Amino acid sequence: MQLRGPVVAVDEPRTVQTSNGQSDLAEVTVRPDDGRADPVTVTLWGKWTETADVLAPGMELLVIDAQEKEFKGEIQYSTGRDSMVVVEPDFLVDVTDIRSWVQCPRMYYLNKLAGLPLAYPVVKGTIVHEVFGDLLRGRDLDESVDERVAEAGLELGLLDRDAASVAEEVRQNASAIEGWLNQGTLTEEDQWRSEQTLVSETYGLKGRADAVRRGSPVELKTGKNTNREPRFQDKVQAACYALMLGEGEAHATEQATHASAAPDTGTLLYTKNAAVERTEETGDLSPAKDFSIGPGFLKYVVRTRNEIAAMEADMSVPTGYEADAKCEYCFEQDTCMAVSGRLEQESKAGQVGRAIPDEEQDYFKRFYRAIETERRAVHREYAKLWRQNADERAEDDRALIGLEPLDERELDGGRWELRAAGTGAVSKIREGDVVLASDGHPIRGKAELARVKQLGEEIVVTTDEPLDLRRLDVYPSEIGVDRMLTALHDALLKQPAEQKDVLFDRRDPEFRADDTTYIDNNEAQNEAVSLAVRAEDFALVHGPPGTGKTYTLARTVRALVEQGERVLLTAFTNRAVDNALEALREQGFDDFLRVGTETGVHQDMQEFRLKERGDPSAISTELREASVVAATTASCGSTVMREQEFDVAIVDEAGQITEPGALAAINLAERFVLVGDHQQLPPVVQAEDEMDGDDTADLGSSLFERLIEAHPEASVMLDRQYRMAQRIQAFASREFYDGQLRPATGEVAAQRLTDLPGVSLDALPAHLQDSVAFVDPDGRARGNTNPDEADAVVETIESFRAAGVEADEIGVIAPYRAQVAEINKRAPDGVTVDTVDRFQGSSKEVIVVSFVATGSLDGPIFEDYRRINVALTRAKKSLVLVGDADALSTDSVYGRMVEWAR
Ligand code: SF4
Repeated sequence: MQLRGPVVAVDEPRTVQTSNGQSDLAEVTVRPDDGRADPVTVTLWGKWTETADVLAPGMELLVIDAQEKEFKGEIQYSTGRDSMVVVEPDFLVDVTDIRSWVQCPRMYYLNKLAGLPLAYPVVKGTIVHEVFGDLLRGRDLDESVDERVAEAGLELGLLDRDAASVAEEVRQNASAIEGWLNQGTLTEEDQWRSEQTLVSETYGLKGRADAVRRGSPVELKTGKNTNREPRFQDKVQAACYALMLGEGEAHATEQATHASAAPDTGTLLYTKNAAVERTEETGDLSPAKDFSIGPGFLKYVVRTRNEIAAMEADMSVPTGYEADAKCEYCFEQDTCMAVSGRLEQESKAGQVGRAIPDEEQDYFKRFYRAIETERRAVHREYAKLWRQNADERAEDDRALIGLEPLDERELDGGRWELRAAGTGAVSKIREGDVVLASDGHPIRGKAELARVKQLGEEIVVTTDEPLDLRRLDVYPSEIGVDRMLTALHDALLKQPAEQKDVLFDRRDPEFRADDTTYIDNNEAQNEAVSLAVRAEDFALVHGPPGTGKTYTLARTVRALVEQGERVLLTAFTNRAVDNALEALREQGFDDFLRVGTETGVHQDMQEFRLKERGDPSAISTELREASVVAATTASCGSTVMREQEFDVAIVDEAGQITEPGALAAINLAERFVLVGDHQQLPPVVQAEDEMDGDDTADLGSSLFERLIEAHPEASVMLDRQYRMAQRIQAFASREFYDGQLRPATGEVAAQRLTDLPGVSLDALPAHLQDSVAFVDPDGRARGNTNPDEADAVVETIESFRAAGVEADEIGVIAPYRAQVAEINKRAPDGVTVDTVDRFQGSSKEVIVVSFVATGSLDGPIFEDYRRINVALTRAKKSLVLVGDADALSTDSVYGRMVEWAR
C-alpha cells in the first residue's frame, strides 16, 4: 500500500534490538489522505532513518509499499523490504542536480545560482551528445559532426574556436562511440533509443537520459576514466534513470513495485578513453563500463534525492559539511569561497572577499525565496500532468486531447514529423512551443518532447521518435526561474558597487545637461528621449495606452546610436521587440541585429535575425559588432547574451517584467532605460499569493514600479494619446493617470465611427450610437461563462457589422477563457475574441467587453483593476460594456465605470 500525507511530527531516530540484531528506526506521524485523515504513525527502519533526519513537520511524505499491521486494535505502518520513502514527491529534482549533490551539496547550490557558463567543455559536450544521438538514429558520423559543429557556430565563435579543430576533437570522441556501437551491438534486438525525457510522478525526479538500450540507461561522458568502475556520481545519475525507466515499465505492465521493474544494469561511455595514448596511460581504457544497479543502490538514490527535496522545502543553503568531499580537490573551490564571502554564508571551503552590504544581502535572500517559491509553483504545474485527467487538462487549456493520428514521416537527420487531425479545441499551446506529445498519457503512456510546427485542423509536430499522436500537453519549463536566479546572482555578485548604488537607494540617479530637441511636436516624448540620453544611471519612461511609446523608444535608440553607444533593445514579448524594430525601420534605421528563435521572431524581422548556425568567426563577429541588439528579456539570460556588454539597455514592457527578469537585461549594460506602464498588466507570477511575507519579495511587482515610486524625478509620463476618442479615454485617465492623459489632437478627441469608410451611425441601434455604451442583458453567470452575455455580445457585433464596420476592426475581451470560447462559437469570422492579456499592446476601432459575473462580485473580475484599464483602452471609436450593472456597482471602481458608461 501507499501512505501519503503531510508530516505532523518526527521522532528522534533510535537503535533497537530486533530478532535480526540491532536496527535503527524513526517514527514519523503523518496525516494520510492529503491531511484529511486522522494522524497515523509510520516507522522508518534502517537507512530510511537518514530520510527521517532531514524531515520536518509540514513536508509531504510518501511511503511506497508500506507494511500495515494491526496491534492491539490499532493499525501500525512501517517500511518493509521493498519500501521506498519519498519526501515532497511533487518537488521534481533534476537528475543532474543529484549528480552535483553527491559530489558536494554546496556544488549543487553554486551551479543553481550561477547557471551554466559559456565554456568550451560544456559546448563540446553538447555537440558530442548530439552526435551520439545521431549515430543511434543511424546517421553518418562525418555528416553528423559537421552539422552539429555548425549548429554550435555562435557559441564556438564567442569562445574563439574554429570549426575544423572542434570537428576533429569531436570526431575523436565520437569515433569511440561509433567503434563501440559497431562491435556488433547495434542490432534491431538492441532496441536502442536516443535521448529520452523522463518525469517521475512517484519519486519526484525529472531528467533526460542520453540513451536507453534494451530498457537500460546508457550515459555518455566526454571525459576519460581509466578505472574499471564508472565514477560514483555517474553511476548515481544512470541509476536515477533506471528508477524512472522502471516506473514506466511498471505502469506499462501494471506491476505494483517500480524498483523490481527497474533495469539491473547501466552503462557509462567515457568517450575520451579511446583518444588516450595507450603508451601514456595505464588502466582500463575501454570506453564502455557496465555496472549493476541493485535495489540498495536505488534506495540510496531516493534518499539522496530526499536530501535535496527537504533542503529546498525549508529553503536552506548547503554548507558543504553535509558530505565528505575534499575542498582542496574541488574545481569549484574559488567560486565557493567567493560566494560564501560575499553572501556571508557558512562554507566548508571558507570565505574570501568582502561581504556585500546588508541591504543587498537582504534583497538577495528575499528574492531567492520568491524565485524558489515560484519554482515550486512550476513543479505543481508538472504534477498536474498526472493529477488531472485528460478532460480536466483540456478544460484548463493545458492539453489538446482526442487527436486522430494521420501520418508519420522520418526526416533527414533521423527526427520524425507526426501529423494528427485536430478537434478544433483551443489551448495555451502555440506554434513553436515545446510540448509533450503522447499516445494518450504524457507520463504513463508513450510520450516524447515535441516541437509544434502547425496547429489547426491538422496538427504537425516533430519528435526524436515516432508515436501515435493522440494528445499534446503543455510542458512546464523551469528555464524562467533558473534565469531569474542567475540574473539575481549576476546583479549582486558581478556588478560593480557604483552601479548598484542607485538600485539600492544609496544615491540618486544622475543626469547630464543637454538641450537637444529630438521630437518637436510632442513635449513629453521629446523630454523622454532627452532624459534617456542624458541618464548617467537610469531613466524611466511611463507610457499609458496609445501615447506613442514605441515611436519614442525607437527615437531614443537612434539618438543613443548617434552618440556612439551600443544599445540592447529588449522587451518581455517577442511581439514588442519586433514592434520596436518595425518602428525603427519606419524611422529609416535598420542597422540592428535580432537575437531569437526562428519561430519566435516575426516574419518581417527574419532578415535581421542572427543565424546561430554556420562559421563561428563570421557569426560571432556579427553579434560582437552589432551596435543595436534586440532580444526578449528571457533571451538576455542565455549563456550567449550573458557574455555581451552594452552601454545602454532599453527595456520595453518593463511594467510586465519581474524585478529579477529586468535584472537579466540591465546586468548587461552600464545604464538602462525602462519603458512601460505600471497601470497596465503586472508581471505574470504563478505563486503570487505566496509572496506577501516580509522575508519573501513580491515578484508580481516590477522594478519599473519600484523605481518610479522611489524616483519620480527620473521619469517622464507620455501624456498625449493618439488612440482613443475623448469620451473613451476619460475614465482611464481619471482612474489610472490622475486625469493627466489627454488626446494628442482635436481629431483624435473627436473621432467617430462615421470616420470609417462606409459606416453609418444611423444604422446602429440608438443605444450603440454613443462612443461608450453599456448593455445589461440580465444574464446569469454559469461558472466562468455567461451565455446570455455571449448572445448580447454577438448581437452587438452584428449591429456594428450591419452598420458597415469590418469584422477585423472589432475586438471582444472577456475575463475568462471559457467565456472567450463561448463567444468564439457564435462570433462572425474575423472578429478577434480573447482575454485581456492577449490584447495588451493592440487596439481596435470597436471593442466589446464581457464581464460575465452576475449577482455579486467576489473580487475584481479581471483579477486586478489594471486589467480593466487595459481592456477599456483598446477601443478607438466605440466601446461597449456588456455586464450586470447591479453586480458591477457593488465594487467602487466598477461602479464608477458603469456610471461613466451609461
Ligand atoms: S569547495 Fe568544498 S564546500 Fe565548496 S563546493 Fe567544493 S567541496 Fe563543496
